[in-house]
Amino acid sequence: MKYCQGPDCHTYKTQDRLKGPKGNKTIQTRRRSHFYYGRGNFCDQRCLYDWVAQYIEQGLDHFGRTTEAKHLTEENAWVKDYDWRGSPDTSHRYFFHNTITKEQRPLTEAQYRDSNYTLNTGE
Ligand SMILES: [Zn+2]
Repeated sequence: MKYCQGPDCHTYKTQDRLKGPKGNKTIQTRRRSHFYYGRGNFCDQRCLYDWVAQYIEQGLDHFGRTTEAKHLTEENAWVKDYDWRGSPDTSHRYFFHNTITKEQRPLTEAQYRDSNYTLNTGE
């Protein structure tokens, strides 16, 4: 069991957060075996965004800010795509698409499903 990491989780009044004996109830941080937001650290989107609002500046200062444009080159602009209109027996159903040059190259279904198969050089 773990607690939601939202800094204000305990301030949101919901029935499941209200705990304790009669006359001494408190609204408590949510505690679950599994959460679905923020890599399993937050009970909902509001708590996730509360955390981001509070800590984003510290996080960016700590891990480093982007201070210049990153570049996606033609060599790394290949994405796999899928033509919904293609029939299953045509070889042109799956293809690589270069998002910069617009070039297309055919793919087999096996290559399409192989997450390690890429034309990108990763430079
Ligand atoms: Zn929460």
